[in-house]
Amino acid sequence: MARISEQTIQQIIDTSDIVEVISSRIELKKRGINFWALCPFHSEKTPSFSVSPTKQIYTCFGGCGAKGGAINFLMEYDKLNFYDAITKLAQMYSIEIEIDEQAKQKQNVKSQLLEIYSIASIYYHTQLADIKSEEYLNYLKSRNINDEMISIFNIGCSNKNTSPKLLDVLREKKFSAEAMKKAGLFINTKNGYVETFNSRVIFPIKNPNGEVIAFAGRVLEKNPKLRKFINSYDSPIYYKSKNFYGLDITKDYIQKEKSVFLVEGQWDVVRLYQNNIKNVVGIGGTSLTDLQASLIKLYTSN
Ligand code: ZN
Repeated sequence: MARISEQTIQQIIDTSDIVEVISSRIELKKRGINFWALCPFHSEKTPSFSVSPTKQIYTCFGGCGAKGGAINFLMEYDKLNFYDAITKLAQMYSIEIEIDEQAKQKQNVKSQLLEIYSIASIYYHTQLADIKSEEYLNYLKSRNINDEMISIFNIGCSNKNTSPKLLDVLREKKFSAEAMKKAGLFINTKNGYVETFNSRVIFPIKNPNGEVIAFAGRVLEKNPKLRKFINSYDSPIYYKSKNFYGLDITKDYIQKEKSVFLVEGQWDVVRLYQNNIKNVVGIGGTSLTDLQASLIKLYTSN
């Protein structure tokens, strides 16, 4: 997922033809100078979705407001991010993708962060199965979370009595100092590094593609001195107000049910899911942000 240079993006925009792109996905009929189809973004009986070869845009006159160029169409129709849509167009038109070197450096930190979070997530999940982590498992049981949910949501724990230590596991992989710092999984104290998420039940937070990008950690009831819940800070891979908890798992159910329940946190999502209400996501904060609203709108407006 490397950054694509501005020149390549411009070349793709100049080369691609909106009629070709859209008709590779839906059937278009020519009427006058434009092409028409049933709108793929809302349900209708008469075609009000128009594609203009001269303006290189599509417009829905049926009221759903869909409008844009070839890139927007692929993003909306194939549910892609901007760079994946660009990549798809480059493949379609056999355009060689040039990488922006400066952005590549940043990308490198990002891919290291994704790997760090992936390793940490597996680590925490494995620790929960350790016999020494019984109190964490019992705590989850006391909150009525069953084994299936622990596995589906990859719930784990950070237990300082188990070994090996997360820091040692990660050090073996030789990540850059910058990536390790930005990951925010350790706090540098006068007694050395301590884990940010210590003595907690760990919920991995994933992006819609299922990549772990953050953690939420909950202390056990008997540990009232620590803050009850802590979350990863924003990082190059995680922006709190732009993500949901659970969406990677629940997105198909949201599309199937054509609606979503917005709930507050991890417990709410897992408990509803366990009780067969699977079209649910956790906002993870006090109020829904604009960015979250546009993200969930890719799946449903209800
Ligand atoms: Zn429409």
